Parts: sequence; C-alpha cells; structure tokens
Amino acid sequence: MSAFSLSSLILSLTTIIFSIVAYQSDRENRVNRYWFYFSIPFAGWSMALYLLTDSKDISHALRWQYILDVVAVWIPSTYFAFVAALLRYKKTYTKHILYFISFLMSIFSFSSLFKLGIVPKFDFYWINPGKLYVIFPIFFAIAVIISIFHILYALRKIDKGSTYALQLKNTLVVCIIGFTAGGSNFFPQFFNIYPFGNYIVILYIIVMVYGVIRYKVLSPKVVSAQIFTLALILISFVEIILAPDIKQSIFKIIIFVLVCFFSWLFIKNLKVEIKIKNELAHSNDALIKKNIELDRISAEKSEFVSLASHQIRAPLTSIRGYISLLKEEDLGPMTPEAKDALDIMNTSCTTLSTIVNDYLDVSRIEQGKMHFDFISIDVRELLQECMSELAPSFAKNHLTCINNVPTKSRADDSTYDVRADRAKLKQVIMNIIDNAIKYTPKGGVTVTAFKKDEHVVRIEIKDTGLGISAEVMPKLFIKFSRAPDASEANILGTGLGLFIARAFIEAHEGKVWAESAGLGKGSTFVIELKGV
Ligand code: ADP
Repeated sequence: MSAFSLSSLILSLTTIIFSIVAYQSDRENRVNRYWFYFSIPFAGWSMALYLLTDSKDISHALRWQYILDVVAVWIPSTYFAFVAALLRYKKTYTKHILYFISFLMSIFSFSSLFKLGIVPKFDFYWINPGKLYVIFPIFFAIAVIISIFHILYALRKIDKGSTYALQLKNTLVVCIIGFTAGGSNFFPQFFNIYPFGNYIVILYIIVMVYGVIRYKVLSPKVVSAQIFTLALILISFVEIILAPDIKQSIFKIIIFVLVCFFSWLFIKNLKVEIKIKNELAHSNDALIKKNIELDRISAEKSEFVSLASHQIRAPLTSIRGYISLLKEEDLGPMTPEAKDALDIMNTSCTTLSTIVNDYLDVSRIEQGKMHFDFISIDVRELLQECMSELAPSFAKNHLTCINNVPTKSRADDSTYDVRADRAKLKQVIMNIIDNAIKYTPKGGVTVTAFKKDEHVVRIEIKDTGLGISAEVMPKLFIKFSRAPDASEANILGTGLGLFIARAFIEAHEGKVWAESAGLGKGSTFVIELKGV
C-alpha cells in the first residue's frame, strides 16, 4: 500500500469514527447531525480514493473513480449545510441551491464531459478529466468561499472572547486547512503536480478534535471511550474480512458481535454515569446558591429583629417609669383597685421586656455580635444570689427550694472559681431555675454545685415537675422549640431561653444539657464549666 493510499484510508476511518461519536453523543444537537451528514460524502470520498489509488488493475480503479466522483460532489454542499447549522440559520436558500447543484453534478460526473476515464499517474491510477471537468473545482471553490464568508460575517457580530466565537474560529481553521490541502487533489488534473496536500488533510481531524474537547462540545470522557470502542469494532470487522476460511470467519463474527454488544453496554453505562454526575454537580451548584440566599435572608431577618427590639425597648422603659410614678402616687392619689391594675401592667411589662431581650440576644448570637466580658467569679456566690432573688417566686408557687450549694469558706477559697461573663451566666442560671419553677406544679427544686474533678465545676438544677419526653429531649435547646404541654404550665414562653443558654455556655467553653426519666418524672438541668 502506498503512503498516499494509506493517508486516504486513515482519513476515511478517522472521519467515520469521529462523526459517529459526535452524532451519538447528542443526537438532538443540530450541529452534530449536520457534521455527520457532511462526514458521509467526505469519508466516502477518502475511502474511494484509498481504493482507487490502491487498485492494481484499471477496471477496478475505474469503478472506484466513478464512486469517488459521485460522492465527492456532495462535499461542498454538505459542508455549507454544516456551517449553516453552526451559525444557527433557520432557513437558507443557499443550502438548497448547493444541494441541487451537487445533485446535477453527481449525474454530470458520469458524462465524458466530466471524465474521459482514468490514466496511470505518479504511482497510481488517476482521473483523466473531460472538457468541462473544471466546473467541479469551480463549484467546490465557490461553496467553500461562501462558507468562509458566512463564518467571517457571523464572527464580526459576536463577542470575540465567547466560547461560540472560539468555536467558529476553530471551524474556520478546520475549513481553511482541510479545503486548501484537499484542493491539491485537483492539481494532477491541471498542472501535473503530485496531490501532496492529501497528507495535510489529516490535520483537520486533529484541529477538529481539539476544538470539540477544548470548547466542551462533547464530553472528552465519552469521546475517548467511544473512539476506543469504535476502533475495536472496526478492527474486529476487518478481521472478519481477512479471515482465511469459513470456520475462522464464523469465529471472528462471534467475536465481532460480542465486541459490539459490550461496547454498547460500556458506552451506555458511561453516559448514564456522566449524566448523573452532571446532574449532581448542577444540584450542588443550585444548593450552594440557595444557601447563600438563605444566609442573606437570615442575616436580614436578624437585623430586622434587632432593630425592632431596640425600638420596643425605649417606650417600654418609659411605660415602666410612669407605672412606678403612678404607684408611688407622685401624680396624685390612687384607689387600691387602680394599684392592683398597675401591678398587673408592671408584670406584663416585665414579661414583655424579657421577651424583647430574648429576641435581641438571639439576633446578636446569630449575627455573631454577642459581646462577653470574662472575669473570675465564684459559682457558689452566684447560685446563692440567684436563689435568694427567686425566693419570692418559690413561695408564690408553693415550691420548696433545697439549697445544696456549699458555702464559701476560707479553706477552699478559689476552688469554685470560673472565668465567666457574670451577667450572662446569671441570666442562664436564672432562666433554668425559673423554668424549673414554671414547669413544676408541686414538689420543689434542688440546686447543687460540686467539683466534678479538679478542672470542672458542675451545677445541677433538679425538679420534681413535668419531666421531658424522649421525643422532645433532642429538640430542647433548639430555637422556638417547646414541649406540647409547655403552654399549659407557662403560656407566655417563647422557646428561646434554652437556645440562648446553650449559646452562652458554649461561649464559656462549657456544656449544658438536660436529663429526665420521662413525662411526669421531673428533670435535671446540668451545667459544666471549666474551673480556673
Ligand atoms: P420557654 O420556657 O420560654 O418555653 P425555654 O427555651 O426556656 O423556653 O424552654 C424550652 C422548653 O423546654 C419549654 O417550653 C419546656 O417545654 C421545656 N422545659 C424547659 N425547662 C423545663 C423543665 N424544668 N421541665 C420540663 N420542661 C422544661
């Protein structure tokens, strides 16, 4: 086989493989489809050229020359159709005119005006052109120039850096390389020059593959897998043709069928896998975007809550001030009924200010703006202070308060010291003891403090109240979470106290949790803080 025939064979096979791969990868894609249509005459022409230049006797060679001409006249028109698809033309008369000319040319190729026959030239058989053969190269040149003109025109109108522009430029390079080099096949007919350009045409395949992979027109993974499997199929097909006897042929056919089947299975699975991967990547992107959006909304909400709470606090302070003035009778005498009403107003104001403060705390925690002033404090003293402040509440609810907190003595002076923001730690302890009072209908509350070990101070607030069910337990410290029966014992609760408690204790690098044997069996809230 001569080098010329070999180059034609390679050109034909690579064109077939590549166009099938492109078409297979996305049949819906118009560009891929038109590229496939163009590849049919192109691969047919190069295959016929291989068979022509490889023929040893003239009758065979003549037969391939006829086939070559009939097929080759379709190359310019199908190429323009491909360019039109790439340029997203909806309707184009030029394409149909070129198709029509190709059709006329294919009939004309049988006439002696087109070719007289074939003659030996260089080291193979070559066409002996008829008087009007020149029409074919002219038609060829015009179609290619029109295609190039259309691409250039489109390039002027689009963003030069876009992927589409790069795709068009790549197609332009492919077109110029392929057709100028391929055009050298007309040389022997007119100038007695060897058609050397045929070797260069192969370059067009390389540029095309580069373009497809570079601009992600096809998935490189699928492309390489398909090229590999198609090459396997072609090799096993050639093996059938080359088989010396019928027994070998049957064996090779079985192998061919098996190769086809497994290749199909392989590509199918690969495509599914890539599709799933792409979908996952898409949904991941969407989730990230959603998360960013949610974070933004949440930040805006915290900002709003913080502003609103601040606005409410000022008038609330003024209301409480006037209630106190009225109660003290600074503004005139008050009847006992009016004083009772003022007491109720005062309690409501206190509840409202607790709620507003809770909202403010939550928004500060969420905005990361909560400020802590750490100092060294004695836990026992803080607990005593809390219990004495809550003594009226115990009495009012007829509950006992068992104080198991050791009193500070000279001997173990600093053993219960922790580093804490006194006001915030007090807020947490007050909230937990207050909850124990609120959610305990009868019995009492036991407050204990002891050193768990050398480095940890442990506080336990145990009550004989409602208890906590196993379902509620995991949600206890979540924002706005309340047990279903919580409203019966404490109507005005917000479900924010324990959320704030956990955030504050965690800022102290401590731990807080609840334990309960179940509903009706009381609860124990435990706080562990690092000792100094
Ligand atoms: P609030 O008391 O305002 O509802 P908290 O965050 O302080 O909010 O408490 C959340 C929920 O935890 C309460 O609604 C209640 O259901 C439950 N809870 C808290 N402390 C106790 C307790 N000592 N005994 C039983 N349930 C409790």
